Amino acid sequence: MITASHLIKAYGETRALDDVSLDVAEGDIFGVVGTSGAGKSTLIRTINGLESPDSGTVDVAGTRITNLSGDELRAARHGIGMIFQHFNLLSRRTVAGNVSLALEAVGMNKARRNTRIREILDLVGLADRADHYPAQLSGGQKQRVGIARALATNPRVLLSDEATSALDPETTAQILGLLKQLNRELGLTILLITHEMDVVKQICTSAALMQHGRIVEGGRLRDILLRP
Ligand code: ADP
Ligand code: ADP
Repeated sequence: MITASHLIKAYGETRALDDVSLDVAEGDIFGVVGTSGAGKSTLIRTINGLESPDSGTVDVAGTRITNLSGDELRAARHGIGMIFQHFNLLSRRTVAGNVSLALEAVGMNKARRNTRIREILDLVGLADRADHYPAQLSGGQKQRVGIARALATNPRVLLSDEATSALDPETTAQILGLLKQLNRELGLTILLITHEMDVVKQICTSAALMQHGRIVEGGRLRDILLRP
């Protein structure tokens, strides 16, 4: 579902990505784990088409992201959901308004938007918070809004950029539980980056360890954990 092949990205002397290749199968929950500066966010931004590599290719759901630009890239990116560490919600829009933005961006009319907003808020357990503003929500609820917004347009792939790093352990477990449920019920493929091995252990089926712009270890999670 996601294939990155021989990605190289340099910032001056630093190789943020130094020949990174990655294969995420459909329905997988794939974790990329590594310390700060390892290149994780450069990798996820490249997979999402926010960053273009110096060389190498990215394919998501059969589309070669690295060949696209402008409107074509924007259209492809509607098929990729993304959630963030600090949620990235608009504080002046309600929960429904934040989700609505993603639907407005694909030109959905108001009647269909309202139906979809109700449906997706129901799915993430926020049906009773549609008219609240982000400041009135807990961290876990804010991330649920982030997830609802990311999935509103029904993408097959969800990218998660340290989505639980700002949350306490109990809320983290709840959000990871929700992601697992969405993976199971929607067949959603999830690629997450994290600096916490614990997150990987809680939900991932496969994982890769990243250091200095390289993937130094990877495979099915049970094989990685069993290695000496
Ligand atoms: P991680 O997400 O694992 O913390 P990053 O992808 O943010 O790692 O960074 C990898 C390396 O690339 C780091 O050395 C970082 O300083 C460098 N880097 C990332 N983005 C930029 C940028 N826009 N300009 C210069 N250097 C960058
Ligand atoms: P904001 O004031 O944050 O911009 P709005 O209240 O204008 O948000 O709502 C934005 C979109 O969400 C509109 O399309 C609106 O019809 C829809 N919407 C608002 N409240 C609800 C709700 N409770 N259930 C479903 N859709 C809603």
